Amino acid sequence: MFPDLSEQLRQREQQGLLRQRKILESPQSTHVTMDGRDYLAFCSNDYLGLANHLDLIESASKGARRYGVGASASHLINGHSSAHHVLEEALAEFTGFPRALLFSTGYMANIGVVTALVGREDAIFADKLNHASLNDAALLSRAEFIRYPHDDLARLEQQLSSSNARRKLVISDAVFSMEGDIAPISELLAVCEKHQAMLLLDDAHGFGVLGRQGRGSLFLPDCTPIHSPNIIYMATLGKAAGVFGAFVAAQAEVIETLIQSARSYIYTTATPPLLAQALITSLKLIQQDEWRRDALTQNIVRLREALQSLPWKLLPSSTPIQPLLIGESAVAVCISQRLRERGILVPAIRPPTVPPNTARLRISLSAAHQPHDVLCLAEALQEIALQA
Ligand code: PMP
Repeated sequence: MFPDLSEQLRQREQQGLLRQRKILESPQSTHVTMDGRDYLAFCSNDYLGLANHLDLIESASKGARRYGVGASASHLINGHSSAHHVLEEALAEFTGFPRALLFSTGYMANIGVVTALVGREDAIFADKLNHASLNDAALLSRAEFIRYPHDDLARLEQQLSSSNARRKLVISDAVFSMEGDIAPISELLAVCEKHQAMLLLDDAHGFGVLGRQGRGSLFLPDCTPIHSPNIIYMATLGKAAGVFGAFVAAQAEVIETLIQSARSYIYTTATPPLLAQALITSLKLIQQDEWRRDALTQNIVRLREALQSLPWKLLPSSTPIQPLLIGESAVAVCISQRLRERGILVPAIRPPTVPPNTARLRISLSAAHQPHDVLCLAEALQEIALQA
């Protein structure tokens, strides 16, 4: 063993930075059981309440009976089932792109896209608050990695104009995972097109939730969806879709390039086809159950109204990610702990995941939360604020 590992872990613990897993004994959504106690939870990404839907469970079981439990090979060898294929076609149609490609996870999708499309002679331009998987992808690609301050398109434009890179790739979260705010997508795309850059948009938190029928952030403007051959769209399937996996949708040439050279696509076992089967059902529910998005929106409005009088402020966000800005890590951890004692789970997010002195409680809302769940959280926070 490396002799300094114990010391490193001890220091982490002393600084209050030791991450700990919770062991759940129940479905992992708005209500969970842990150590024999029931909790009301605001930590899951099951934004539409689909993860425990009986139709998805039934589809997964049918998929298991038809295809078995595992894919048993990678997509290019022997693991690409008709369920995967039908799902890819449905996702392309749903998001309005010529083709789509499934990846095992969003992390792997971002790694695959970036490393397949850019290398040493190229440059990547990234929002500073992007998800870790986009940052890791950029580092792995060996392209020049240039970051711009959050949403600062003037700075991005300067960086793009002074770059002589062969290919320019701009990468951005569509909904920022720790802030909940939405990137200025149309403006971002206009800057990319002006500088012949491609835009990789990570819509992990927008797909299923935002836009007409939940088609995602590109469909946010009511009339015309944002579309361009310069966009590469990535979304995950383990959040609003309630299952697991991710996909990339783009022009046919981009998708074919990924099939030929994205290493995190080629060199890994395909996701179990039973999950693709469940996702085909999930996509139908995402499309048809508008009431889920309505219930989610009402919960967002309800929470924001109920927390107005707190000494801590919610960051501006119209998405299910509602961060309550606390500041000091120790205080955020303490509030999270007090909530837990009251039977409510809300994670405290600390640096380095977020910038220094911006520790926060990251409240994730779901259509599956009942109105009284949201009010219960608000009341508990008010009590804690009075004691602080
Ligand atoms: N991008 C963003 C913005 C995310 O929040 C996440 C998951 N937290 C990912 C990518 C990775 O997705 P997955 O969990 O499917 O690997």
